[in-house]
Amino acid sequence: MDNNKLWQSVLAQMQLHISHANFATWFQNTEIISRDTDKVIIAVPNAFSKEWLSSKYYKLILKTMRETDSNIRALEFKINPQPVNSSIKKEVIESEKSNIEQLKFDEFKVNKDTNLNPRYVFDSFVVGSFNELAYAASLAVADNPGNAYNPLFIYGGVGLGKTHLIQSIGNKISLDAKKRKVKYMSSEKVVSGIVSAIRSNSMDAFKASLAPIDVLIIDDIQFISGKTKSQEEFFHVFNSLYEKNKQIILSSDRPPNAIPELEERLRSRFSGGMTVDVSLPDYETRLVILKTKLQEKNQKIPENILEYIATNVKKNIRELEGALNALLIYCKTNNSNLDIDTTKRLLKGFVFSPFNVANYKKVVDSVAKFYNLDEKSLFHETRRKEIVRPRQVAMFLLRKELKYSFPAIARKFGGKDHTTVIYAYKKIEKESEENNKLTEEINLIKQRIYSG
Ligand code: ADP
Ligand code: MG
Repeated sequence: MDNNKLWQSVLAQMQLHISHANFATWFQNTEIISRDTDKVIIAVPNAFSKEWLSSKYYKLILKTMRETDSNIRALEFKINPQPVNSSIKKEVIESEKSNIEQLKFDEFKVNKDTNLNPRYVFDSFVVGSFNELAYAASLAVADNPGNAYNPLFIYGGVGLGKTHLIQSIGNKISLDAKKRKVKYMSSEKVVSGIVSAIRSNSMDAFKASLAPIDVLIIDDIQFISGKTKSQEEFFHVFNSLYEKNKQIILSSDRPPNAIPELEERLRSRFSGGMTVDVSLPDYETRLVILKTKLQEKNQKIPENILEYIATNVKKNIRELEGALNALLIYCKTNNSNLDIDTTKRLLKGFVFSPFNVANYKKVVDSVAKFYNLDEKSLFHETRRKEIVRPRQVAMFLLRKELKYSFPAIARKFGGKDHTTVIYAYKKIEKESEENNKLTEEINLIKQRIYSG
């Protein structure tokens, strides 16, 4: 195998083991520059990369290489500041448009029994009015699992702290003296577990493996939408734990009543305990979050720069962290202090501007995705309720968020008489004042529209 192929295979493996952000940070501009029988020399772009790769990833890279060529016994990292002219670089940059999101240095510390990452704890979770209810409910559950709220269902847009919160509950419970058995799983893991159990006729064994669990935490449960067979089996798993007073904790990007293609009986189970949301932090809280993160990392950044970040990076907390990390990496690699112009330049990709994120396409796209429709059907002439409502919501948002004129909206929707649009706008406006479910739906759609 030639050097380039060997390195590509390492990169492919690494992507499975570490987050996208980490991958982009540490493996951008790397390649094998030479190789003799037992030693491989890898070019890295700077001293910082060299240090991290050799201290954190050495073993994993070596192990992966040895799977291809067992003669390889050692690696050496050499600083080679020339940008590597290979497809890797391009791929990395393209796949990582949103930039370095976060540096999970402790990625490998995930507990093998519980699947919990020890970095997610209540102590590092900043609380404000945007998430205090979810925080309080989570603490209550952590202190009294099975008895406070069951299930606990936390929902909200991406990067707003759902995973952090539900894992904090798990970490707190698994550290207390009662030695309860905690298990954290993504809903994809649950679905793939169920699917392979069905395939291999081992559903009983699968259920038995979950039976001893005291606290079951499932992240992003919305992905179970439309998976009929998995929902059926999961319903039984849910019930058997629930009946034994075992705690169930779920997160989702939307409330139970807005998850499409979800069996009614599961929907009612999901909403049978406590349902709470997390939303966007305000400016003051964004500043506190930045300061907390800096303190955790034992780093300093001038106040005016922190204010610039808090003012401009509004999309979510993950982006806020990403922006901060991008600046910290810059300081470290360049060994220099930040000024405001450099900050502006570095954070271009993070800065929120409603004018370049919300547009016609994003509105239509977000509405269609939210209601699980394909985009074209929003424009169908039909009176079917499951289409009429989303279409009205789309019209409403075009008017409300983008200030489109009624006739302009009418033209987009097949030249309808613009009084139809006015009617739709008024109807949604009025109903959303009276109907919490609709308000919530519109808020969640707005989060999508404004989140890149
Ligand atoms: P979600 O699961 O909602 O997409 P995450 O829990 O993964 O979001 O949060 C994204 C990042 O933001 C994580 O690194 C997390 O630690 C951080 N974060 C989110 N909310 C808070 C908070 N309230 N205080 C401190 N850090 C937070
Ligand atoms: Mg998450």
